[in-house]
Amino acid sequence: MDPPAYDQLDGSAPAARYPHQQTPMADPLKSANVHTQEPPSLQTTVIITGQQVGPDPTTISCPSCRATVVTRLEYETTTKTHLCAGLLCLFLCWPCAFVPYCSTACRDANHYCPNCGSFIGTYRK
Ligand SMILES: [Zn+2]
Repeated sequence: MDPPAYDQLDGSAPAARYPHQQTPMADPLKSANVHTQEPPSLQTTVIITGQQVGPDPTTISCPSCRATVVTRLEYETTTKTHLCAGLLCLFLCWPCAFVPYCSTACRDANHYCPNCGSFIGTYRK
């Protein structure tokens, strides 16, 4: 009639004292895990930096005023111009040194719209 001795349980089963309470916690990350999948933008931005122009005045549709014009040419003296002049001065005769500055062969041709004056493109040698 004696109650069972708990002496043998002391120390042998301390895990029984642990409260087996599993508190179900809602994972806040799961609720916040919202997939925001944006479709890839099919936007294609075409930037026209310069029209394909040649060394001569070109009939072109002006991107600014949209008029069909023949471009106005302005030749730009570049470092290549000075190089040509220097080479001519060294290996040929010095009077020829002014030729690159007069001719258009060693200079970039800038095309401008005669209608609105906007820059259209550069033809580089
Ligand atoms: Zn124009």
